[in-house]
Amino acid sequence: MEAVDKPPSINDTAVKKHLKNAAGALTVNDYYQGIINGDRTVLSRAITLVESSKLEHHKLAQELISLCLPHSGSSVRIGVTGVPGAGKSTFIEAFGKHVTSLGNKVAVLAIDPSSTRSKGSILGDKTRMEELSTDKNAFIRPSPSAGSLGGVARKTRETIILCEAAGYNYIFVETVGVGQNEITVHSMVDFFLLVLISGAGDELQGIKRGVMEMADAVLINKADGDNINKVNIAVVEIKNALHYFPPTFSGWQPQCLPCSAITKKGIPEAFEMINDYVEFTKKNKYFYQKRAEQAKQTMIDVINNSLFDHFYNIESVKNKIKETETQLLKGELSPYIAAQQVLDIYFKK
Ligand code: GDP
Repeated sequence: MEAVDKPPSINDTAVKKHLKNAAGALTVNDYYQGIINGDRTVLSRAITLVESSKLEHHKLAQELISLCLPHSGSSVRIGVTGVPGAGKSTFIEAFGKHVTSLGNKVAVLAIDPSSTRSKGSILGDKTRMEELSTDKNAFIRPSPSAGSLGGVARKTRETIILCEAAGYNYIFVETVGVGQNEITVHSMVDFFLLVLISGAGDELQGIKRGVMEMADAVLINKADGDNINKVNIAVVEIKNALHYFPPTFSGWQPQCLPCSAITKKGIPEAFEMINDYVEFTKKNKYFYQKRAEQAKQTMIDVINNSLFDHFYNIESVKNKIKETETQLLKGELSPYIAAQQVLDIYFKK
């Protein structure tokens, strides 16, 4: 009999068989080959695997991530944030089309943990980007629909790796401007873009100062029609504000540009600016330092999440929590003693 092709670095046939069953007919190697060949359907399925909370999927996903890692890292990762209605989706669509028209491959991912709590997602599904979604050089993936922000962040980081292995060289991570999300997105991108709209002096409404300070650029969107003058005034105001912020670690002076996702005004300029940033920070090495810092943070996050998951999945811990909760609610136990009793179970295991 002919020898069957073995996937690189995976020799455990038992694991393979098991994984094949768990994931519906695709082996790690099938996923890997599909991704490397830029197959969007396989990429989609691989992301579903990464997003799955099933333990056997998690194992398979980790194998796949390890295989894809050597092919990752070469994209430009761009975080896009702004209040709902600022035009992020419309902008990313117009921007994405521009970027693919220059021969690049664009992936759009979203972080929206609000969907877990409210069931309704603030970002909605990204089917709104109809034009971009039919572009064969674009890949659009809505936010993972379940999990804590920490879980969503892990899934998005891993999704970035898969997209990079599939050849996407500009990756957008979109989120809404509500605080914690930005910090998470900032921890996984190279360039952080804030999309604002002009209004009667309320440019900063809903956007925390800390978010402005994280921005490598602010775009004032909807610079079209009657709105052009207002946008130009807002650009001057924001530029002034940016000058008063503390110097950035990158040495880059954050920019503010007008743009219109509808007329495409400012889109090529925004793209050039991002490329200038990449060139600037690669030259002064900040680009690589930031990536290294992010890798460190990822490691810590993975450890924290794993410990967290492990702890809360232990049967005796679960039972003890239930038991102490009841006593706590009756006022029979202080929260500190309750916590200690639960932790004792873990540490004495
Ligand atoms: P998001 O919630 O930030 O993703 O915002 P959307 O992309 O969904 O846009 C919100 C609304 O603003 C939609 O009705 C868009 O058509 C509109 N919009 C987005 N960009 C522009 C723009 O550049 N100019 C104008 N006039 N309208 C825009």
